[in-house]
Amino acid sequence: MEIAPESETSKDTISRNEVTPFVASQLQKIIDRTYSKFKDVDEGTVATYIPELGKANPKDFGICLATVDGQVFTAGDWDREFTIQSMCKPFAFQMALERHGTEEALRHVGVEPSGEAFNSIELDQKSGRPFNPMVNAGALAVASLIKQSPVEAGIEAFVEQMSRAAGRQLRIDESVLASETATGNRNRAIAYMLLNAGIIDEGVLQSLHQYFAQCSMLVNCKDLAMMAATMGNIGNHPLTGDTVFDFQLIKYVMAVMFSCGLYDYAGNWAFEVGLPAKSGVSGGIFAVVNRQLGIGVYSPRLDAQGNSVRGILACKELASRFGLHAFDFSNVGSSFMQWVL
Ligand code: GLU
Repeated sequence: MEIAPESETSKDTISRNEVTPFVASQLQKIIDRTYSKFKDVDEGTVATYIPELGKANPKDFGICLATVDGQVFTAGDWDREFTIQSMCKPFAFQMALERHGTEEALRHVGVEPSGEAFNSIELDQKSGRPFNPMVNAGALAVASLIKQSPVEAGIEAFVEQMSRAAGRQLRIDESVLASETATGNRNRAIAYMLLNAGIIDEGVLQSLHQYFAQCSMLVNCKDLAMMAATMGNIGNHPLTGDTVFDFQLIKYVMAVMFSCGLYDYAGNWAFEVGLPAKSGVSGGIFAVVNRQLGIGVYSPRLDAQGNSVRGILACKELASRFGLHAFDFSNVGSSFMQWVL
């Protein structure tokens, strides 16, 4: 996002007739107001089906926005750590595409929205594959593709690439990993279904461990925003300049996030917020504004679809205040024609 010098404008919201770049103080003000507006919303409940997740403080609420030129804006509990949970799925898919190529990866997982619960024990009947990498069946197929031998090496490779995307060393929360492993019978059922269908190899326990460990990696809102900004910045970390992701593949990951990233709310999200994004049961959501910025939000109270209540409210607010919707007239995105003309 282009940020104009402070003196150019004093508006704090975008004018529909005149697209004026925001100044940094306006960005911060809008983020502060978004935080204040929703901080007392107390709808929703903290996930408990993985017992360790139930320990989250329902009051926590953090927001971070990071631009592709390295500016960072924060509010509330932006530095509170929580496990990444399903938000690991797009990054793992990116890694599978990078390691195996699109054709091979797509032999193991499709890119169709499923309309089913994220943890449903089923395959796409038409293709015989998991519907997409954002449901657990697809994520387990992806975990099987990126696991290594010994299994700790694959987990380390994942944490390593995620740390480069975040710009700081990340780590696994061992107690969440243990809790997830102890209670993950549904995921075990999915994994054995995948083995039976020839989607994953015999290393079922290794694939499960890879997936559980990925889900148990700790992040905060700033990490998520930086990881998202790295994606939006054609794979380069905005501050370190490190090339973390193969930019030719990011569009595929963002396309799947756009259509499948918010559980059973994905269609409404695309309609209302209009950004590639992913949520997780820990209460985080991250969103990418291509070539402009990344957003990370956290609040552990979830709605009936499993999405963070305050997270969704905050993202809607930011998208509308800044004109971030992919098809908003004010969003210049990465338009090739605009560059050529
Ligand atoms: N580890 C969780 C599971 O597979 C991830 C769930 C989620 O965030 O959607 O059940």
